[in-house]
Formats: sequence, structure tokens, C-alpha cells
Amino acid sequence: MIIGMDAPRKELQVSAIENGTVIDHIPSKNVFQVIKILGLDLCEEQILFGTNLESKKYGKKGIVKVSNRFFQSEEINKIGLAAPTATLIVIKNYQVVEKKKVEIPGQIEKVVKCVNPNCITNHENMITRFNVVDKENIKLQCHYCEKTTDKTSLEFI
Ligand SMILES: [Zn+2]
Repeated sequence: MIIGMDAPRKELQVSAIENGTVIDHIPSKNVFQVIKILGLDLCEEQILFGTNLESKKYGKKGIVKVSNRFFQSEEINKIGLAAPTATLIVIKNYQVVEKKKVEIPGQIEKVVKCVNPNCITNHENMITRFNVVDKENIKLQCHYCEKTTDKTSLEFI
């Protein structure tokens, strides 16, 4: 499903959901990853998404709109890791009530698996914990084994 969207229609498209969240400026290639890590493939609310839409700023972009969902910080962290350029737009009663860029925090819990197969978090029922040592290139250092999980080895829980 591709939503055609040119610039003048943007506001109309964005305000088309009554209540919910629009995730804008997702790198096109990561749209399906964002859908997956947020569990939206199993969500029963109305979801609209588009990929390879024109974006003045990024060339091509993706967008996901979810009715009646408002994401919590843990979910926003996941979005930040998969789509660092994304903007979150919260809609209530067809109005934009909040607009913010996703941010990768200094510490990440639960969201990602540790790359080290011997790490205790992969053997015990433990919550993963990472220090974000490089936000630009996404490098996460495990609090327990100190191994670094990076962009190429990111596996979302
Ligand atoms: Zn580890």
C-alpha cells in the first residue's frame, strides 16, 4: 500500500487521522522495520504507511500513521534506533498536539539484544542494558559484557 503524497497535501494527510501518531521522515528502507519493531503488523488499529515518498529534506522518506496509538518512551527509543531522522506527530481530535524529533537516549534498556552470544542477558531472563557510546553510528555498549552492538548487528527484542 503506497500513499501518494505531495507537499501541498501534507497537512491534509497528516490530519486525516482523528487520534493517533504519525511517524514521519522514516528512511524509506526502514519503514517495514519500524512497523515490525513496534508490533504494528499485529495491531488492530487503522494503519497507513508509505515508502519512497518525496521529501525535500531527505530525498525519499517513509511515513507511518497509526490510529489510537501513543507511543511510550521505550517504543520511541526503538523508533530512534531504526529511524534516527524520524519525527513523531501526535494527533488528537484531528489536531497536531505534539511534534518532536525522536532522540536516541544515553542509555537503552530492553529494546535490543546483546550481540555477544555468551552474554548473561542471552542466557538468563534479564533485561538488556546498554550505554549508547555513539549516537551517530549507533554503537551500544553492553552494561554486562561490555561488547558493542552496532547498526549492523542490531536485533530488536
Ligand atoms: Zn552483553
